[in-house]
Amino acid sequence: MTVARTVRVHDSCIGVGLCESLAPKVFSLGEGTQAKVLSADLPDDLLEGATDAAEACPMAAIQIDG
Ligand code: SF4
Repeated sequence: MTVARTVRVHDSCIGVGLCESLAPKVFSLGEGTQAKVLSADLPDDLLEGATDAAEACPMAAIQIDG
């Protein structure tokens, strides 16, 4: 069975927007003050950008599972 890889943003997000810059297909600030995940399931081609964003996030608010 294949377990889906997922990404989420925790409430500790302060809306700096680094994640959107590094992985605009995964994260969006939109009009809000916290980043939103555009697609909770994270395909292989978006993993690198999402991982970069998780490592760059000043609040360690991005969690990738799977
Ligand atoms: S980089 Fe981190 S703190 Fe900044 S918007 Fe993204 S999740 Fe929020």
